[in-house]
Amino acid sequence: MYRQLGIDTFIQQQLGNWDMAREHYNDLRQVRQKTFAFSGYTIEAQYNPRRIISSSARVDEKSIRERPCFLCRQNRPAEQLELPFEEDYLILVNPYPVFDKHFTIPSVEHQPQEIRGRFGVMLNLAAYLQDYALIYNGPRCGASAPDHFHFQAVGKKELPLLRDFNAMRNTRPVASTRGIKIFGWNNYLRYPVTFMGAERNELERFFDLLYLVLLREMNTAEEPMMNILTCYTGEDWVVHVFPRKKHRPSQYFESAEKQILLSPASIDMSGILIMPRENDFDNITANDIKDIYNQVVLDCRMVNRMISQLVNQDL
Ligand SMILES: [Zn+2]
Repeated sequence: MYRQLGIDTFIQQQLGNWDMAREHYNDLRQVRQKTFAFSGYTIEAQYNPRRIISSSARVDEKSIRERPCFLCRQNRPAEQLELPFEEDYLILVNPYPVFDKHFTIPSVEHQPQEIRGRFGVMLNLAAYLQDYALIYNGPRCGASAPDHFHFQAVGKKELPLLRDFNAMRNTRPVASTRGIKIFGWNNYLRYPVTFMGAERNELERFFDLLYLVLLREMNTAEEPMMNILTCYTGEDWVVHVFPRKKHRPSQYFESAEKQILLSPASIDMSGILIMPRENDFDNITANDIKDIYNQVVLDCRMVNRMISQLVNQDL
């Protein structure tokens, strides 16, 4: 039913019948935002107290085991509507929004947060939700439910990195292979592997190769730490994969006035730092921002090396 009505109608219908979600979306009007200028681009900070739940989520195994999963149907609020996508996914209005259109897209089944085998679905979702950027946060890279698979979707006009990419600010094409164009980033604080193309199968193949390179470079048997942003232009998919080396920066674990409660995920990687505490928002400096990105992302040199391995198929 909702598919015909369209996604906007789905949101309106949901906000019409769910008081808590409506209240939280109304609260977005009071969100404070400020901008930091860097060389050729900007980073924004958003003070958003509702996000404390996600930013401070305890994601260790014991805490996860002992809490009811908020993405499983039996634990979700009765008012929450579902828009099915393919057989295995549900589009849900996120009751803790960062932007005025914000979805959580869990798998129907309670299965762990793992991107392998699901990247194709991400491409399909991006093509279905063309005004949106699809988001994947790895289990140790900002996902607040590492035990229940989920994507998110937010309006793509909201994300600074996507605007920078469209304007080719601090990025340029560095190679192409099998119909896929690959882009590198310079002086940008975070260094995604960006690739675009129109052939779904080639993109999936490229992603699988990238996954193998990440596994090797990070020397891990678990899922390599990453955030992913994907959107569809009408012709091409554009994918930004952010290799990560750390879940949360040291500032997160400090005490008293040294603490900055910031748990970086895809939206932060895109250039909007979500800050649930006003004091942190008021006091954060450009140097803190640089330091936080430096701690959690893989540096430019390593990412460039991975890109050249991918292009040369030196695997
Ligand atoms: Zn679950």
